[in-house]
Amino acid sequence: MAVGSQSARHFDAAARLIPGGVNSPARAWARVGGNPLFIERGVGSKVWDVDGNEYIDYVCSWGALILGHCHPSVLSAAESAMRRGSSFGAPTAIETEAAQLVVDSVPSVEMVRFVNSGTEASMSAIRLARTATGRDVVLKFDGGYHGHDDALLVKAGSGVASFGIADSAGINSRLASDTLVAPYNDFESVKRIFAEHAGKIACVIVEPIAGNMGVVPGNPEWLSTLRELTNADGSLLIFDEVISGFRVGAGGAQALHSIEPDLTCLGKVIGGGYPVGAYGASAALMGHVAPLGDMYQAGTLSGNPVAMAAGVATMREMLADGQYESLGVKTARLAEGVKNAIAQTGSECVVNHVTGMLTLFFTPGQVVDMDTATAADHDRFARFFRAMLESGIYIPPSPFEAWFVSMAHSESDIERTVSAVEHALRLSA
Ligand code: PLP
Repeated sequence: MAVGSQSARHFDAAARLIPGGVNSPARAWARVGGNPLFIERGVGSKVWDVDGNEYIDYVCSWGALILGHCHPSVLSAAESAMRRGSSFGAPTAIETEAAQLVVDSVPSVEMVRFVNSGTEASMSAIRLARTATGRDVVLKFDGGYHGHDDALLVKAGSGVASFGIADSAGINSRLASDTLVAPYNDFESVKRIFAEHAGKIACVIVEPIAGNMGVVPGNPEWLSTLRELTNADGSLLIFDEVISGFRVGAGGAQALHSIEPDLTCLGKVIGGGYPVGAYGASAALMGHVAPLGDMYQAGTLSGNPVAMAAGVATMREMLADGQYESLGVKTARLAEGVKNAIAQTGSECVVNHVTGMLTLFFTPGQVVDMDTATAADHDRFARFFRAMLESGIYIPPSPFEAWFVSMAHSESDIERTVSAVEHALRLSA
């Protein structure tokens, strides 16, 4: 099952009109070579491309589809919302329902504002942190991705824990220079930064379980250290749970580790496959947000009723008894199978996983930060990716991404995946 002629034809047409043929660069196959698959439809754990090939899908809309494709409850909620009207530019009751589910589930959140994407969520959370503290400096971590806002599209400079440098052309350099970047999971650098910049840091933004350098869980003690340092300095702690929120559990990583951030960013799962992001915090902090306070943030389509209906249906399904346990067991089974395949084939790989997400790294050492993730063999990943595709398994086309497991993945999907992994490890060696 190679990329077929119809996908190639669609790609040629798209590339003439859309930069790189894609509306988000992660969809391009820059790291594995060739043209992306064009997807025609999805049901449950499967997608079909425009050439009619069937794949078990571990992209799952980059984590949004925790119930898989076209889950009946989500479909019917979105459909009936759509029949009542697409969007009104006035409040609807479903927004309050969605807010209640978030507030009831996420420990640190008392009030929430819905936006249209994770980018908007993190951008607004930063603005709120700056409003509340009256400070400008932001600390983020190398390998963390928080969307494409200027202040956050910044990577580590040459020295460890230095002021960041823009990770894209066109970034306002004054904004980028207010962002500090430190290595993920490293205690000493954050302590040093807080000592050097005492009283200046508005906030620390962190993925408590990183998903954008592949899956790299934050060390709970390190996350506690971030909590202590921010408390002591009067700066705010932002957990970007756009991936981990409602995925590793309804309360996200903060519930798992019993660490309450000041601000939380959400997205992906809470929109059930539709464009939704959110930021939330205590009522006191959210009191700064307009129209209550003087921090302006707005959106024509924010809280869109169709997207909210899909999100509410998704969250309700996931809040039923035993759902996260079952997702955890399923992911662990996949991880075990992949580890066995690694052992069987004598491959130099490691697997990082948490509930609902997993990454196979082509490196013998532990992957705990961006440096160790980058040390992996990316050429081998590209060969592995191709071999998986040939076996009908669609994993993300980059070694720096998570494979997303959904409630729709069956025992037999997991078994088929594990045997494809063993085969692909042999072929890619
Ligand atoms: N934060 C995290 C942790 C993400 O993984 C992403 C996207 O993948 C974002 C923020 C940005 O979200 P969006 O792509 O919806 O703008």
